[in-house]
Amino acid sequence: MSSLRLRIPLAAASLVAAALALAALLDGAESLLIAGLVLGAVAGLLGVLASRSLLRPLASVKQAAAAIAAGDFGARVWPRPAGEAGELADAFNRMADAVQEQMTDASAQRGRLEAALNSSIDAVVALDGDLRVLYANVAAERLFQRPAAEVAGKPFVWYMPNEQVLDAVRASRDRGERHVNVIERPGRQYLQAVTTPIVGGGDWAVLVVFHDLTDVRRTELVRRDFVANVSHELRTPLAGLKSVIETLAAGAIEEPKLAHEFLDRADDEVDRLIQLVEELLELSRIESGEVPLVVAPADVAALLSDVAEHLRPQAERKGVSLSLRVGEDVGSADLDARRLERALSNLVHNAIKFTPEGGAVTVSAERAGDRLVVKVSDTGIGVAAEDLPRIFERFYKVDHSRASGGSGIGLAVVKHTVEAHGGSVKAESELGRGSTFSFSLPVARP
Ligand code: ADP
Repeated sequence: MSSLRLRIPLAAASLVAAALALAALLDGAESLLIAGLVLGAVAGLLGVLASRSLLRPLASVKQAAAAIAAGDFGARVWPRPAGEAGELADAFNRMADAVQEQMTDASAQRGRLEAALNSSIDAVVALDGDLRVLYANVAAERLFQRPAAEVAGKPFVWYMPNEQVLDAVRASRDRGERHVNVIERPGRQYLQAVTTPIVGGGDWAVLVVFHDLTDVRRTELVRRDFVANVSHELRTPLAGLKSVIETLAAGAIEEPKLAHEFLDRADDEVDRLIQLVEELLELSRIESGEVPLVVAPADVAALLSDVAEHLRPQAERKGVSLSLRVGEDVGSADLDARRLERALSNLVHNAIKFTPEGGAVTVSAERAGDRLVVKVSDTGIGVAAEDLPRIFERFYKVDHSRASGGSGIGLAVVKHTVEAHGGSVKAESELGRGSTFSFSLPVARP
């Protein structure tokens, strides 16, 4: 019998027992009193039993509800109580199933959103109306150099004490405005900060997204430097030309010997200009990949010999010996002969230029497995250790050789040419003793 169904007869029985007991007291009938007391005792006992059988299942429902509230969504009323309490348990368990399913869906969705936000390279931060951090993704943790758990609930100003960004954040919160600012942080880090009001985001009031612009800025700086360097390099020969023209105009043109001298100087300056412009063009062609390499099997020994013979007069004029050492197994290699010849000429030309009279320049080639290694060694002035790592940068010139008339582009062209062939360049040097510039590239194109 279910406890609910027991209640009505039990209540009636208790009333009857109480009435009988009262009647007995009133008319003194002893038998009636005993019957009333017995009936009352039985009713009381049944009442206790009934309330126990209802309370126990209720307690287990309460327990399961508390466990679910504490986050244990798998908690259920079990074992199933009998009777009506069992129906209550079934209903509770069905509700718990639905809650568990919704919680699983919600947490999967949250996980996906979080994964998406965390895979963003941009730092994403959500703030509440008091401008406290409510959410910070992994990139924001990196930006603030703090774990998200530590940042959560703290004032945003602690981590981004930048007036520009703070003003923007306030404007987004108070006036619903969207702002984009570029700010500079310590260590020459440039950030673009986009602040947006969050509509319908509960306690999320403002979203701030930081995009790192440091690389873009660096590229801009490199470009600006490049223009400044080119202008500087152009100015020197142009100034030379101008002074020649002025001197000629001032009367030197009337004296044939002097006029010739000045015209020769003008010719040199024009050569410098042509060389500079050609090197710049070559560099930009290689860098942009606009004019692809024309690769074909080339006889390495012949290529080296062509370069050496072309530059031999220059070495002789300077009293520098120029020798060639080509390994027997060098054979041929797949390369753009015209471009590689130009790169090698650059190296040999430098070696002669930076080697004093009586010195020696050696050009060598050998096979190292499936690579061709070409070296240009000299016994010249050498390059200081601190300059060596930057020697292949465009426009880089070692201080003492600034007067040598070079533009600092030659080695950059060599590096780009060799790299376009899938190879790499190397510079070894000792100040005052000489240098070895070398490159290695695959013999066969893949
Ligand atoms: P440049 O046109 O000035 O020669 P490069 O790019 O060819 O430009 O060379 C850059 C700088 O590297 C030179 O100005 C010079 O200081 C240094 N350098 C290059 N080759 C040598 C070398 N063989 N010995 C000493 N210094 C060299």
